Amino acid sequence: KPGLAERLAGRLTGGGEPVVVHALTDVTLDVARGEVLGVVGESGCGKSTLGRVVSGIYAPSDGSVLLDGKPVIRDQQGTVEKLTTQVQMIHQDPFASLNPRMKVGETIAEGPRYHKIIPAKEVPERVRSLLEQVGLEGAYADRLPHQFSGGQRQRIAIARALAMEPELLVLDEAVASLDVSIQAQVLNLFMDLQRDLGLTALFISHDLSVVRHVCDRVAIMYLGRLVELAPAKELYENPLHPYTSALFASVPTVGTGKRVFEAIKGEIPSPINPPSGCAFHPRCPLAGARCRSEVPRLAEAGNLRTVACHLNDGGVE
Ligand code: SF4
Ligand code: MG
Repeated sequence: KPGLAERLAGRLTGGGEPVVVHALTDVTLDVARGEVLGVVGESGCGKSTLGRVVSGIYAPSDGSVLLDGKPVIRDQQGTVEKLTTQVQMIHQDPFASLNPRMKVGETIAEGPRYHKIIPAKEVPERVRSLLEQVGLEGAYADRLPHQFSGGQRQRIAIARALAMEPELLVLDEAVASLDVSIQAQVLNLFMDLQRDLGLTALFISHDLSVVRHVCDRVAIMYLGRLVELAPAKELYENPLHPYTSALFASVPTVGTGKRVFEAIKGEIPSPINPPSGCAFHPRCPLAGARCRSEVPRLAEAGNLRTVACHLNDGGVE
């Protein structure tokens, strides 16, 4: 639908007719109950868009998002209506995502009260127990967000999401803005909760070292397409797509943080005018003639794995 992205694209391409940017193309994923599915890629690969589509914030121009077989949204003439409270999102920025003027207990209570998730008289006790579940004190319910650190605010954001008793959590770079030591604490909390509550989650991150500890399966995205999908253990032991290998090659030693993808040669191409054939070909050390003309299909690569690369599907020439 014509929207901000298209208007921006129109500007970027020099006025004229707006260009429709396909942030995502042919992305099909399923998440099993109790599973944590990682989605990894560089900025601009479409992973945040995917998170917003799955969360019911954006409507896909084609395709659907189903939870237990039922649509997550209704899209009528461009007005997106979310049909379920069962998908909850946790955003990157714990400073922007909490209302600074609202006591955190109220923030956590708002959703379950409005949507009648539990009887109203049980809400205050539930808020206290959620705060304790995320490693804070029940008495903190009366405090305002500015009285908490970034890591604590992210714990509050997790409590707020859990208060809705979601079937699916979508975490978009949920620890990326935190210091490395705090990241580990919040990740450990998430993993404990995931195991204890049997949570199902889509875990979006640019950071392969974070995803490794948290996810059962990992989807790698490049320029709006899924390029590899595999159980985490196998992906880390033996990446099949050259882009995945390049991501591993460029992961810095733990603690250095930034510039995770610097080792991959070349810039990420523009999604407005993506390269022909395999979109990774200008940066791929193994590219052949076929890569420049033919989009590789996502093909099975054994053992619950799929990969979109001609090397796995008849060769590059
Ligand atoms: Fe590289 Fe070709 Fe495979 Fe694309 S299809 S990743 S260019 S080898
Ligand atoms: Mg993003």
